[in-house]
Amino acid sequence: MEEHNAEIWGKADGRPCRLYTLRAGALTACVSEYGATVTKLLAPDREGRARDILLGYDTLEGYVRDPGKYFGMTVGRYANRIGGARFTLDGREYRLPANNGKNCLHGGVRGFSKRLWETAAWDGERSLTLRLLSPDGEEGFPGSLTAEVRYTLSPEGLTLEYGAVSDADTVVNLTNHAYFNLAGRGDVLGHTVLIHAGRYTPVDAGLIPTGEIAPVEGTPFDRRRERPIGEGMPQGGYDHNLCLDGEGERPAARLADPDSGRALEISTTLPGVQFYTGNFLNGAPGKGGVPMEKHGGVCLETQFWPDSPNRPNFPDCTLRAGRTYFSRTAWRLSAK
Ligand code: BGC
Repeated sequence: MEEHNAEIWGKADGRPCRLYTLRAGALTACVSEYGATVTKLLAPDREGRARDILLGYDTLEGYVRDPGKYFGMTVGRYANRIGGARFTLDGREYRLPANNGKNCLHGGVRGFSKRLWETAAWDGERSLTLRLLSPDGEEGFPGSLTAEVRYTLSPEGLTLEYGAVSDADTVVNLTNHAYFNLAGRGDVLGHTVLIHAGRYTPVDAGLIPTGEIAPVEGTPFDRRRERPIGEGMPQGGYDHNLCLDGEGERPAARLADPDSGRALEISTTLPGVQFYTGNFLNGAPGKGGVPMEKHGGVCLETQFWPDSPNRPNFPDCTLRAGRTYFSRTAWRLSAK
């Protein structure tokens, strides 16, 4: 294997963990085998000054010890919540670890974000594929599943492609849990956001969808016009799934920081995006020891809608045995 732009970052799961550096044009991204995590994304502002636009930690230990914030990590087997930590598939009930009240969040206690992935391919510069084998019954999910994430950096941005195959019917929902801060400091309430979603999934107190698919019109979830995140934000912030308009690979959201001029455009093949304004960040130290405060970053997690395994009226996240799961999300960066 080509080891150019790769270093051993430390040890996890008793094995050495590699950290890769991808470079293209003015962009640099770092990706760790642990959690298939995007640990850094350096992007220039309008004056050409590069800054890391992702929250996270400086060390591998930081990610290993991360208390459920999932900075830049790949979450799975099922990203977001599964209500009551159980679901029925093909007439059989599966019980999952309840790690978020009585619900299962982000794949359980030791989901994909807490695993050391292995390198499947690395071209030494721009394209990296990481692979994880998740055995049958792991965290309660059926089917032995092989998941892959391919990161491709171009001068325009980072593309994230997800693939998976299973030997038995299962459910799959893979996403990246990056917290963006396009200023590289402070809070994100002054960033503008636009989300191409005319509907959203209302939730109960445990953030489990009620099953309703409601129009955003006249609610704080109407983010179809570009305006500051803090404007019209519900008390406590956003932590909601918005149902993206249209199908196929299409624009999902646009995030911009008026001060630095940096903008991020997200497109995806997936049906939803969890719009989460870092409401549970609590000042724990991140990169450079700087505290990561509430609303210090914003997540736009492209994914299947929460609790889909229990919601026949939501887009189907079932992966049938022997079939291939595929999704693509692109983060396009610019500055002006
Ligand atoms: C969830 C939040 C959760 C965060 C970090 C988000 O995807 O919607 O409720 O606190 O992840 O775990």
